[in-house]
Amino acid sequence: MTYVVTDNCIKCKYMDCVEVCPVDCFYEGENMLVIHPDECIDCGVCEPECPAEAIKPDTEPNLDKWLKINADYAVQWPNIAIKRDAPADAKTYDGETGKFEKYFSAEPGQGDA
Ligand code: SF4
Ligand code: SF4
Repeated sequence: MTYVVTDNCIKCKYMDCVEVCPVDCFYEGENMLVIHPDECIDCGVCEPECPAEAIKPDTEPNLDKWLKINADYAVQWPNIAIKRDAPADAKTYDGETGKFEKYFSAEPGQGDA
């Protein structure tokens, strides 16, 4: 089992999750984060910390697409464990549907560097 980051993180990226993860298994893309499924220890502490409610346990149905996205990009994007400010327009996009199709970027984020 693992936890996965889903659609509503895109363009919101509040980053409250990275500060609480005990194993630092978040990775940063240009406009969303993902969780490395082999590093996540299923502690669940990040799930209630996400203001966008974008983090789900993989026991929820219909998460196959997001499981693959988290696994694929966690090995390509830089690690992030230190919270930065959310994008200034994060609220504008919070709750919008279909963000993956509209906005997903495969480009890496800056990470902690
Ligand atoms: S707290 Fe939620 S919206 Fe923010 S970066 Fe983490 S998963 Fe994305
Ligand atoms: S469930 Fe725990 S280990 Fe997994 S990403 Fe969230 S905080 Fe990190």
